Amino acid sequence: MRVIVDVEKCCGAGQCVLLAPKVFDQRDDGIVILLDASPPKELHAVVREAATVCPAAAIQLEERE
Ligand code: SF4
Repeated sequence: MRVIVDVEKCCGAGQCVLLAPKVFDQRDDGIVILLDASPPKELHAVVREAATVCPAAAIQLEERE
């Protein structure tokens, strides 16, 4: 899995950080920071959930091994 975030779209809601704090962090202004663009398998489910719940649709996933 490859994770791509669009900081232009991100509205700083922080849902991704709550769900997957090993993959996402936030800057002081709330905008997302991608910590791990290739998260390990055990995190894929929560990363998918983060992409789904992101209110700005700012998280794109490329699914592959
Ligand atoms: S959930 Fe989406 S809008 Fe909220 S901080 Fe994460 S990427 Fe940004």
